[in-house]
This record gives sequence, structure tokens and C-alpha cells, in this order.
Amino acid sequence: MTPALMKVYTSKLCTTMHTPEFEFLSGAETQYYESPQRLDAILAYLETHSDSFEITERVEDFGYEPIQRVHKQDFLDYLETAYEEWIQEGGHPNGVLPATIPHHKVTRLGKAKASNLLSKAGEYCFDLSAVITKDTFKAAWNAAQITLTATKDLVRLGAEYEQSLASGAQSRENPPGLYALVRPPGHHAQSDICGGYCFLNNVAIAAQWIIDQPELKGRDGQPKKIAIVDVDFHHGNGTQEIFYSVSNPLYTSMHSADDYPYFTGSALEKGEGEGLGFNVNIPLHHATTDDDYVEILDKLILDHVMPYQPDYVIVSLGVDTFKDDPIAGFLVTSEGYPRIGNSIRKIGVPTLFVQEGGYCVEKLGINVGGMLQGFLGKKV
Ligand SMILES: [Zn+2]
Repeated sequence: MTPALMKVYTSKLCTTMHTPEFEFLSGAETQYYESPQRLDAILAYLETHSDSFEITERVEDFGYEPIQRVHKQDFLDYLETAYEEWIQEGGHPNGVLPATIPHHKVTRLGKAKASNLLSKAGEYCFDLSAVITKDTFKAAWNAAQITLTATKDLVRLGAEYEQSLASGAQSRENPPGLYALVRPPGHHAQSDICGGYCFLNNVAIAAQWIIDQPELKGRDGQPKKIAIVDVDFHHGNGTQEIFYSVSNPLYTSMHSADDYPYFTGSALEKGEGEGLGFNVNIPLHHATTDDDYVEILDKLILDHVMPYQPDYVIVSLGVDTFKDDPIAGFLVTSEGYPRIGNSIRKIGVPTLFVQEGGYCVEKLGINVGGMLQGFLGKKV
């Protein structure tokens, strides 16, 4: 039996909040690529495919705690208050951007902690893409709460799935899947630094929330195990940093070998301490095709995800791997995304997809929708 519908969690607030007018790219002032139109384009596709998707705007309030479990309080305080302070100090209304970022070759000689707003802007941000506007914190908070709402339902669906597997009514071929259609994205946000359009790490918050639920225990009495599969074009440096020294979740990523964020994502980054071996990076070359991508993903799943025996999979869903993406892109085509979704489906585990990157607005709907329909086992 194929699950007919995938539930989609989103909110109009994802398109009305956090709308910077511009960013700096390759030295030039340009449109803000991480735009609300991205979300509208995906939603338009999902709405016209009501045989596959059921959209809900139900959002539960999980409060501050799940966010504080992943991000440091001084960073959260900064995100919440930076814009007001920025405007008071005469900053441009587009939003907060750093003027100076503490380069390690500068700071190795010793440096006092950041005190004023401009120095904090550098301390808490690693590039020029994470513009903080008047409602950026609220927008990121909203994205995290939507993702948590979907995560709570994932756990419920997961329990039902386990029961139906145990009773023989279900096979592992049809795992339940859910999708959090949110912005701003999250996988570049580290525990105390924003960047790459990301402020709060939605996927990390979701994974940690599952681990923290006292009533959710796995086969050995330990927390349920989560495998994160990051298929965005860019390395998820934030998710890697947050979980680098723990063995749950497993973090896996396929990304460009020589592109943003440049200084992370090597195959040599394997985790540390208890986390050693639970961080898997697969850097890829720019000429990666559909066939290459699916073959490498299948091998990643077989070699790393399946042996980990996860109870849940969380996918950092980026489609900036698309061949015509304006700021990224392998040679992946719209025909490739259903195949990627189908590979993830074969893990056979309840799966939450969380929106990350993808900037070719005209093709976002079919590319994201195609991956999700591939997961549902549907022909696109
Ligand atoms: Zn990306």
C-alpha cells in the first residue's frame, strides 16, 4: 500500500516576514536570493497536486526550550535585539550586516569579547548573506516552531508505523513522510553564529527535540536514533558543528567540494570524541549528473545510513543542486529529483523533509515536489 498523501506544514508568516531587499554577491549589491517567492513557487506546485499533498497551517508553540537546546543564549539574545540597536546606531534599514568578521589570523593575538553592535555583528555572523531585519528573529522562530510541529507528528506517525510493521499489516517499503515548508532555512546556522541565509537550525532543533523526549526510547532504552541526510548543494556546516561530538544524530551530507561555505565539508571531518565516525561528508564535483548523484546517494545510504539503524530520517531538502540554479548547481535535472526521493524512501524509516536551499524559482515547485512524490513512490 502506497501512502497517498504527504502532509505539508507551512504558514503565511514564512512569506511575510524576513524580506531583506538586497544582499552582496560577488562584490555587487543584488536581489536577496532567499526570497519569499521561493516558498510561494513550491506551494503553488503542491496545491495543484492535491493527490499527493495535504497542506496545513497548524502550528503548535513549543516555546523557547527546544531552540535553547541547540543555540547559545547570547546568540539568541543578539538575534532578537540586533536590528533595533542597528537602527539606533544609524545602520541601513535593509538590515544588520557585519563590517568586520574576526578572522582567526587576527584574533590569534588575543581579543576582548565583542561589546558594541558592529563587533557583535561580526562575532555572530560568518558572511554577508544573513541580513537581520526587524522581524528576522520572529521569522526564524516561526520556521522552527513549524518544523517542531511536523516533528511531533512524525513521532506519532512513526509509532503507528512501528505498530503496523509489528502486526504485519505494513512493510518497510512505504514509510510515512512529512514536509516542513519553511524559510529562512537552517543548515548553515551553527550553535552561536548565523550565515548562509540561516539563523536558527531547524533540522538540528527537530533532531534534538526527538532525542530529548523522555518517553521516546529505542530498542536498547536509549533515545531514538536519527539520521540526517543533507542533500542541499552546500555543506551544512551548522548541523555538522552542532552535532560534531555526539553519536546521535548521524549527520551525512553530499555537497559541492569547492563552493560555499568553502572552509567546511571535507571528507576528513568525521566527528570527534563520542561523535567520531558519526559525521559523513561526501564532497562532489560540479559536473555531478542525475546518475552520479543517485548512485552516490544510494551508496551513502547503504554504507552509512542503513548500518546506523535510524528510527527517523530528517532530510535537509535543498534543490540548489539543480543545473540552472542561479547561485549554485550541479548538473541535476528535474527528472533527477523523484529518483533522489525514491532512494530516501528505500531507507524504510519515517522521514521528515525540511526545506533548505534552492533558488531557481521557476523550477522550485517541480524539483521539490518531484523529490517528495518520489518518496511517496509516485510517478512524476
Ligand atoms: Zn544551499
